[in-house]
Amino acid sequence: MRPIQMVDTKTQYQKIKSQVDRAVIDVMESSAFINGKAVQDFAKNLADYVGTKNVIPCANGTDAIQIALMALGLKPGDEVITPSFTYIATTEVIALLNLTPVFVEVDPNTFCIDPSSLEKAITSKTKAIVPVHLYGHAADMEPIMAIAKKNDLFIIEDNAQAIGCEYTFSNGSKKKTGTIGHIGTTSFYPSKNLGGFGDGGAIFTDDDELAVKIRMIANHGQSKQYYHDVVGCNSRLDSIQAAVLDIKLRHLDEYNKARREAAGYYDRAFAGQPKIKTPFRHDNSYHVFHQYTLQLNGVDRNGLKEFLASHNIPAMIYYPVPGHKQKMFEQFNTASLDMPVTDMLTEKVISLPIHTELDEEQLQFITSKVLEFINK
Ligand SMILES: *Cc1c(COP(=O)(O)O)cnc(C)c1O
Repeated sequence: MRPIQMVDTKTQYQKIKSQVDRAVIDVMESSAFINGKAVQDFAKNLADYVGTKNVIPCANGTDAIQIALMALGLKPGDEVITPSFTYIATTEVIALLNLTPVFVEVDPNTFCIDPSSLEKAITSKTKAIVPVHLYGHAADMEPIMAIAKKNDLFIIEDNAQAIGCEYTFSNGSKKKTGTIGHIGTTSFYPSKNLGGFGDGGAIFTDDDELAVKIRMIANHGQSKQYYHDVVGCNSRLDSIQAAVLDIKLRHLDEYNKARREAAGYYDRAFAGQPKIKTPFRHDNSYHVFHQYTLQLNGVDRNGLKEFLASHNIPAMIYYPVPGHKQKMFEQFNTASLDMPVTDMLTEKVISLPIHTELDEEQLQFITSKVLEFINK
């Protein structure tokens, strides 16, 4: 059996090696390393794939959220609502920009922001909501957009974990996640569903005015060469990453399908086990399984993790400390917030290996070891 990893980008690369190597060599031969044709081509192809008017590539998924927030023209102390149960990047940039993160609960089934928690969190200072499509499942965007409209708020979707995911509205129409709010952001960190060979990110918007601002902010606030209108930053996707990503984009649907098949195998193996809650899939979301995350009931989670490790099966806790309890947010006094769902999930979740290269032998071994531990 091949070694089991949380992600296996090496085997994935081997299958497309000749195309990727050719594309990287082309960039080297062109020596257009920054903002070359490869970047423009990839941005265009990604815009067509997700179905948005504007894709602005940038250096990573954290910058993407930061730049999106910067484009909204917010003032220090303005409030941004976001789930506590997410990766730190989502919430960190809010505080970095001297905005105030306001943490809300997630839905215990989807792990995504709970729309029913939003209205109580809105104050006169609230300016934006940042829902996260966590683990590859869409946040419930229809009610979120309705609340945003009613309260005149911006929506920035953190789509770092869900590229290729599709959300279905109640009238049957569909949109890719990241293209529903005013701005969407994503990451091309190597382990993401569309991962590069280094860092990368992108920002999506259908709003042409916002796109101009975002492009400017990502490039030193420059309106024309050496004329800088606003304080921005330097956040670029390099051409080598773009060339690699452009090849992988052609395989993204097939990659997401492979992740869903692995998830289906896990679901079937764990069906009917009272100590394991398998990931929920809402009808409105085409889940792309960036993570396959179980909720354990009455199982020694660390014991399971160690047992799996002793059989060379990695497992991860995403995330062991929720945002509202992170030391970096001490100044906001959020540690004592009453967040029972987030705290419960923090204690119960465990993520199993999921990627495009898992085979049946590996899946059989992983599931048999999980079942062996929980039923002993
Ligand atoms: C990975 C990730 C980010 C940040 O992306 P980077 O490219 O690592 O900066 C932001 N939000 C979420 C939910 C992520 O998973």
